[in-house]
Amino acid sequence: MHDAEQQTWSDVVDAARRTVADGLVVGTSGNVSALVGDDLVLVTPTGVPYHRLGPDDVVGIDLGTGRQVRGTLRPTSELPLHLAVYRGTSARAVVHTHAPHATAVSTLVAELPAVHYMTAELGGPVRVADYALYGTPELADAVLHALRDGRSACLLRNHGMISLGDTLERAYDRGAQLEWMCRVWLLATSTGSTPATLSAAELAAAAGKFTGYGQP
Ligand SMILES: [Zn+2]
Repeated sequence: MHDAEQQTWSDVVDAARRTVADGLVVGTSGNVSALVGDDLVLVTPTGVPYHRLGPDDVVGIDLGTGRQVRGTLRPTSELPLHLAVYRGTSARAVVHTHAPHATAVSTLVAELPAVHYMTAELGGPVRVADYALYGTPELADAVLHALRDGRSACLLRNHGMISLGDTLERAYDRGAQLEWMCRVWLLATSTGSTPATLSAAELAAAAGKFTGYGQP
């Protein structure tokens, strides 16, 4: 493995472990991937607890052919979903979890109401992808449809959520923000009242401000 692959694999394993530590998944559900160069997708294997993954357990898939070109462990069953996202968007990292608040919201609405301005960081109101059996091309299609118009995250009905980014850190952070926003919406609606939501103009203003946010 080249240094870039080794580093990216280490980042993928770290992110996968964080999903467990942060309570976004239980056991080995959920999966993480990242792109190296233009066509090598490093992705977590199926059925191996993340704390047991080491430097030699890399799983690499050629994006063009879909064939495994690194490692011997079998890739996650959601590989078609990861490959479809890389083929259909500009993402370079993908995080898929079964975070509890996000999964709960996925059973209630077709779109998460814009209860917070972080909605803008996700490209606009977060849609819920139609249900399809896990690991199928139908699920990948439904997710890509829900991600249209530049969304960087969506919920998967009766399943979980997915978030994307140009880096693994950004994809992970978006997933964590989405889980937090789902929690906020559930808290607000649990009062029995209907939460106020932000208008498209208010979200656009927040999106504009994000552009200059952070350290120079
Ligand atoms: Zn899943």
